[in-house]
Amino acid sequence: MNEIKDFPMLEHNIIYFDNAATTLKPASVINKIKEYYEEYSSNAHRGDYNISFKTDDEIDKTRILVKDFINANKKEEIVFTKNTTESINEIVFGFFYNYLKENDEVILSSSEHASNILPWLILSKIKNVKIVFVDSVNEKLLIDDILRKINNNTKVISLAQITNVSSDKRDIKSICEIAHKKGILMVCDAAQSIGHMKVDVQDLDIDFLAFSAHKMLGPTGVGVLYGKYDLLCKMMPLTFGGGMNENYNEKMIKLVNVPFRFESGTQDIASIIGFSEAIKYLNSYGMENIERKEKYLRKYLIQELKKIPYVKIYNENNEGSIVIINIDGVLSGDLGLYLNSKNICVRSGKHCAKMGDNKDDTVRISLYFYNTYEEIDYLIEVLKDRKGIEKFIK
Ligand code: PMP
Repeated sequence: MNEIKDFPMLEHNIIYFDNAATTLKPASVINKIKEYYEEYSSNAHRGDYNISFKTDDEIDKTRILVKDFINANKKEEIVFTKNTTESINEIVFGFFYNYLKENDEVILSSSEHASNILPWLILSKIKNVKIVFVDSVNEKLLIDDILRKINNNTKVISLAQITNVSSDKRDIKSICEIAHKKGILMVCDAAQSIGHMKVDVQDLDIDFLAFSAHKMLGPTGVGVLYGKYDLLCKMMPLTFGGGMNENYNEKMIKLVNVPFRFESGTQDIASIIGFSEAIKYLNSYGMENIERKEKYLRKYLIQELKKIPYVKIYNENNEGSIVIINIDGVLSGDLGLYLNSKNICVRSGKHCAKMGDNKDDTVRISLYFYNTYEEIDYLIEVLKDRKGIEKFIK
């Protein structure tokens, strides 16, 4: 990997530590999108001409790459959506709306992203089902605490594999095993894990999985909804129109097969096609290598942060690639802006997870495998300049 050559954004003299929000895109992804617009720009699944066949073929190739990337059983289990948020909404309102009955219970953790809480809360109002929250202990969700909340009414557990604030990595495989023994379905929000570790849906035995291409080197505008095939066949589309129907008249509507019935209208074709190159890039670097590199970067970052007495680290004992911090007497938003003044990109605030046990606003440093030790050294140097920080926030 050549960071600067492979990631054109890095030519702009920035240090990018906001990878949990979205990752940078390799040149290969950008070029693939350009290739589509310049060489076979056309709609999909509609044309009777060569460039349209080529577009269909490229979309199919991406679907197969995604299928292999997560080890799904068949490509029909891969639905293209807009993002993780849309995938979870489809799962909640397309599947669980019909599946759940009054007084059934849904288990969530309070540290979930808004996208894995709000759809369930809305569903609970419509269907009169109960949402049961499990809190973390010292930024970690404990399996025993989940077990304590399970009862005969529990029908589904929905959890992030890695959370987006404190980077809590959950043992989804064990939770799935427990859930399935009790006939409970498992939904996994893989937005923060999919680009950072190997996710094997058959090994996890997960029922539904949601993620976004833009958090794994891919373009914005594409998400994935994975579901076990028999479950997808029972799911209702949430949008109706072109491309998803086989025939209709005033009396009947016949839908096309899974997954196309969930992909109505013209999708973000260019981004779906560009996404293929993101997966190829991840495959060529290797997910194990990505995980290992990030582990070392995180360890180094924490080791260096600990040398600065006024920095508070909130999630030292978690595993993911996110470290959240604060500085005594400095608002997290001010610290974010100070770092921006030094060309360091981070995010501050509550990071779309407003119910988590950590009530403080924090500065989130989120790493990815193209970050370097030198970038961390620069961040540390900038944070060590207490006088510079104070002058900036005055
Ligand atoms: N879940 C988690 C854990 C996330 O981190 C995010 C993005 N911050 C989302 C869901 C939503 O992803 P998107 O905005 O791509 O829909």
